[in-house]
Amino acid sequence: MDELVQFVKKSELGKSRKRPAIKSKWKREVREKRYKAAGLPKYPTCNHNQKAFQCKQLTMQMIRKFYEKFYLCSNKFNPEAKRKKNDKRTKAMKYNILGDKGAKVPVCQKTFMGALLVKKDRIQGVLKRFYESGGQMPLENRDRVFDKIEKVIKTKEVITSPTEYVSVLQEHTQCTDLASIPVYDWKTSYQNIIKLTTSWHFAFMKYKRIFITRTKTENVLVQGEVNYRAENNTKMTITKKGKKITMIQPDIIQPNKIIPNAAKLHDVLKLLKTHFGDNWETLETLTFYKIVKERAQETTGKYD
Ligand SMILES: [Zn+2]
Repeated sequence: MDELVQFVKKSELGKSRKRPAIKSKWKREVREKRYKAAGLPKYPTCNHNQKAFQCKQLTMQMIRKFYEKFYLCSNKFNPEAKRKKNDKRTKAMKYNILGDKGAKVPVCQKTFMGALLVKKDRIQGVLKRFYESGGQMPLENRDRVFDKIEKVIKTKEVITSPTEYVSVLQEHTQCTDLASIPVYDWKTSYQNIIKLTTSWHFAFMKYKRIFITRTKTENVLVQGEVNYRAENNTKMTITKKGKKITMIQPDIIQPNKIIPNAAKLHDVLKLLKTHFGDNWETLETLTFYKIVKERAQETTGKYD
């Protein structure tokens, strides 16, 4: 036994089969390190009120909203971190603060810095981040929503109707019933018009950036770049011979018309019978399944 113990060595980091705990990557740890702006956004004192700088047009509410949206998008970024020494970013910049309904209000640099509480030498990096994120919620935050939903769903032993899912989803995010909006059959409509991605002029699966240019001939040229820095600059069509992108005219998929495949339907109906008894159809909570069954009966003449 002593011999055995001798041979058990702690393997090098990254070489063992068990993944080592890298504390710095733990979510909570990462979250704590995130930048939190120190203090409230500053209201401009410059009185600029001309075409190029309209600082005076801003309301405190506009500034606060811009500030909030900005930090929601850029929370992975630390504006106070040191800038790389060889960074030569000296371009003249125009600064805008997003006002009502997304309108851009041009402001001077001082106003911009004050609104976001960032220092002068950090601005360009900060802006890049912001515009790259498209002013949207970062992916990370959306993932957190799914996380929260999953946690609640897990606690439920049985979920018998879609409305139960919907009520959980609605607690955490906006929920749109697909029956209330037009849903287009994109897949069917593009198949005869767009080439398979495997025969596109760049490695579709590897692209990191994509540019779509509209042509004057009702088509589009697509440029896909597999690198962030280097560019191929090759714009080409992705449509099949003699086809144009405007030929894609998808039909609306009618809601609540889909019939599950026979094997699935068979299994579910059997399960319902086992679980709730022969009269499961009389239970109000199972209306969803009853409707699906009736739909299948109407079309196929089977299932009873
Ligand atoms: Zn100003």
